[in-house]
Amino acid sequence: MAKERKTTGIENAAAAEAPLYAPATGWTTTHPAVKLVPTHCAFCGMQCGMNLKVDAAGKVFGVEPRDFPVNKGRLCPKGVVAYQQIGHPQRLTYPLMRRGGKGSPLERCTWDEALDRIVTTFRGIQAQHGGNAVAVYSGSSMTTEKSYLMGKFARVALGTGNLDYNGRLCMVSAAAANNKAFGVDRAANPWSDIALADAILSAGSNTAECHPLTMPYIWEARDRGGKHIVVDPRVTPGARTADVHLQIRPGTDTALGNAILHEMIRHDWIDHTFIATRTVGWEETARTVADYSPARVARLCGVPAARIEEAAEIWGTAKTSFLLHARGIEHATNGTNNVLAYINLVLASGRIGRPGCGYGTLTGQGNGQGGREHGQKVDQLPGQRKYDDPAARAYIASVWGIPESAFPPMGYAITDMIEPMIRGEIRGMLNICSNPMVSLPDQAAIRRALETLECYVVIDFFLSESAELADIVLPGSAWAEDEGTTTNVEGRVLRINKAADPPGEARVDWAIICDLARRLGHGDKFAYRSAGEIWDELRVASKGGKADYYGITYEKIDAQDGVFWPCPTLDHPGTPRLFEDRFYHPDGKARFHALPYQPPAEVPDDEYPFFYTTGRLIFHYLSGNQTRRIGALVENAPEPYVEIHPLAAEKLGVDSGDLVRVWSRRGEIILPAKITRAIRPDTVFIPYHWGGKQSANLLTIRAYDPISRIPEYKVCAVAIARAPEGAVVTRDALRALPPAVALPGEQFA
Ligand code: SF4
Repeated sequence: MAKERKTTGIENAAAAEAPLYAPATGWTTTHPAVKLVPTHCAFCGMQCGMNLKVDAAGKVFGVEPRDFPVNKGRLCPKGVVAYQQIGHPQRLTYPLMRRGGKGSPLERCTWDEALDRIVTTFRGIQAQHGGNAVAVYSGSSMTTEKSYLMGKFARVALGTGNLDYNGRLCMVSAAAANNKAFGVDRAANPWSDIALADAILSAGSNTAECHPLTMPYIWEARDRGGKHIVVDPRVTPGARTADVHLQIRPGTDTALGNAILHEMIRHDWIDHTFIATRTVGWEETARTVADYSPARVARLCGVPAARIEEAAEIWGTAKTSFLLHARGIEHATNGTNNVLAYINLVLASGRIGRPGCGYGTLTGQGNGQGGREHGQKVDQLPGQRKYDDPAARAYIASVWGIPESAFPPMGYAITDMIEPMIRGEIRGMLNICSNPMVSLPDQAAIRRALETLECYVVIDFFLSESAELADIVLPGSAWAEDEGTTTNVEGRVLRINKAADPPGEARVDWAIICDLARRLGHGDKFAYRSAGEIWDELRVASKGGKADYYGITYEKIDAQDGVFWPCPTLDHPGTPRLFEDRFYHPDGKARFHALPYQPPAEVPDDEYPFFYTTGRLIFHYLSGNQTRRIGALVENAPEPYVEIHPLAAEKLGVDSGDLVRVWSRRGEIILPAKITRAIRPDTVFIPYHWGGKQSANLLTIRAYDPISRIPEYKVCAVAIARAPEGAVVTRDALRALPPAVALPGEQFA
């Protein structure tokens, strides 16, 4: 395998003639590149390696895939056009503010005007209403350096405990479940282990669209004779080719996981030695799943019992196996329990901590892993430490040079900040790298909350739907305009290299935050001259924590094609595979969890007879703020639609392309119908990458997992009719559809 070039800014005249992807103008160009900058994709947690092509004027104009160990020279349709954000004509190039207050237009202003206004307003709010009256809402697509900085900025410079990040909408159920079961939050294995698995269970993951470059590992396993089980309410591309597809009714995953375990116990497809020596909690779990026979669960889940038995046999009898899970099971009021139900299957089989045996949680955001480890979560300090742990506070206070008493009281998760904003308890917010006006559920309530804020500040590089509501907008940097690190889906720490400067007056994000900290009177704690200096402090801050990055230097990352944490010393090579000898709980053992099924917060009824679920498309990333501006992606997926099964469409009198009105107790949306057998007859699906009147989250419910506080994006109840005033399908009509697929709202009894 050819080794990729590892250092930043390599001169490479030979690359000038190389063909490259340039979809806006055709698929090849002879535009000369004078520099190739090795880096990683801006989008999903795979963090595929790529070289950005830079011309003599310093302009990034193209990309080529790198032969990096994760993607092995491949990129997906998003990856090949990610570079088109850089130098995009819609980039924000100067600060904006509403000089005349609320209701006045956003106008160009100077950096001094904008930053001084922020400091004056935030300090005024805090003087009157306390430190926690100003919140920070951050993001996990940023480098780990910036993520770390946001946590320190909120606690030290701003003095607020109301700090959270948009992984709350993405990774927190996985994180909570991993911590409960294993005592640490990371995928257990390098992705190369997937290819060695005899059985792969993908639970709630549209892998082919959301993490496309995971699919070659699954294909490799199948080429060796491995079997793929997919659990998803939709016939996703991965489900179409799976050996077993369990087209589950939304919100019933815990019961399904219990039924598979029930069947494994019945056939004695379990590893008694592993359970006895490396786990606790088995007896209660086994007792609980005794009630969950496939025959009984089939009715609740809407899948045939025989299919559940088939999946259990594949998983139960495999020699090696790998669990992949994602938002399909995690975006739920039972999100943590759903993940734990599938982790029970891993533990019962004893197949973890060995080649080809383990699990991975598919991180949605580019830095979904690193961004959730170093203190930008409301309850967290760097190194996956707990905010309420006295020893952790003492250590981090010593690293930051502050007294322990300076830590502000812990605030709310972002999903719990909405009501305090509406009632005036939280009055100011700094929002970086997230777009709540698309991504949070129940959009009418989110708009009300943001509009109620006295001072809402957004740092972004495009004018997102959220930035349009802001009082002050600061132009920040795109991923290729700064250096730093990310941690990919495997737990591998990677280098992001700088290929261009931010345009116009835009600044790199960490410099904006440090300038704000200085104006807030804490410049001495934020006197960094480079991202590398932030990194070196982060390494020390993480030292001794579960996510110990101390031994990971930029040079080691370059030399090793990334470094897997934990890496506690400078001479440590990193840890690609976890749990070979022990788990992270103090006794070294993993935890089973007994999980009685709980229904979702809202299920269909006479008034709202359909299940509603949301998700991603291959051509867009999260709220679409980046990808909806890239021509090739927009051409492929220009607008959202409603997936409706032909049986339901017939009842509605709807054809593909007809406008349909979909409404829930929160709002309504009118979109074209896409009639497809890819969805269950009792369920409709809308992709969530759009805002305004096209926002899938106009309908979703503000109901949260009690453990992780993740919203229930994947299930609520809606009604549908052909727009403007077509027939409404009744619950009874749905009941008349084939019983295996149409029993909306049935309870497990
Ligand atoms: Fe980028 Fe993910 Fe596609 Fe790789 S799979 S190119 S990281 S979006």
